[in-house]
Amino acid sequence: MSNLYSSVENLRKEYRDIFSQSVEEIIKKVEALRPEKFEGDIFDEYPKESIGRRWQADVLDMLENDVSKEVYRKFQEILAYRNKFHCAGCATCCNLACSEFSPEELKLKAENGDNFAKQFVSIFIPYESKEEARKIYPEYIQMLEENKEDNVYFYHCPKLTEDKRCSDYENRPQICRDFPDNPLSILPKSCGYKKWKEEIEPVTLMLHSMIEIVQYYKENICKYFQD
Ligand code: SF4
Ligand code: SF4
Repeated sequence: MSNLYSSVENLRKEYRDIFSQSVEEIIKKVEALRPEKFEGDIFDEYPKESIGRRWQADVLDMLENDVSKEVYRKFQEILAYRNKFHCAGCATCCNLACSEFSPEELKLKAENGDNFAKQFVSIFIPYESKEEARKIYPEYIQMLEENKEDNVYFYHCPKLTEDKRCSDYENRPQICRDFPDNPLSILPKSCGYKKWKEEIEPVTLMLHSMIEIVQYYKENICKYFQD
């Protein structure tokens, strides 16, 4: 088993543990809003203007104005902290960009106004084969194979020079300037942001779990407020 594969597995396990803690945390907040002596379940349907419906409204408000705003604020802090680290110029992210979308799908998304796809197709072109991508970051390709992730397309940027410099540095798109903007991205050992990622990974996992749980609550409560 590759080191990268086992570290991704560990990350998944860590996420499961953190997710359970986050569920408990949210349940506590929901229960703190429970009306006195009311015994219903937060996900049940209650008549309009009933105590149960008001509780649900209070919970939605808390999720939106307390939890979600705090999650957003913490993500901003994480991104600001990233500025303390620097690109080491290894060029791996220019030489190997992965996407679950094929070139045709990305082109279509770009035509439909997807800003990320627009920038992506403006610089990256597909590798002819997985074997070419393997030469750039073999551990990563091995990890995908061990993980049975087949639906991945590999790209590279032709603006990268042989001495690993960006030939259009001043005009590089925002996605290049922001990389890595997701602390859960898999980064090569050579990446100057690796330490940033490792330091803030547990907090990021916690924030992601919060987003997932808030989404679940919203989906299962908002449906009663649609008419
Ligand atoms: S435009 Fe420059 S920075 Fe962006 S991927 Fe290409 S070589 Fe790298
Ligand atoms: S992988 Fe990291 S260190 Fe390497 S070029 Fe990209 S941002 Fe810079």
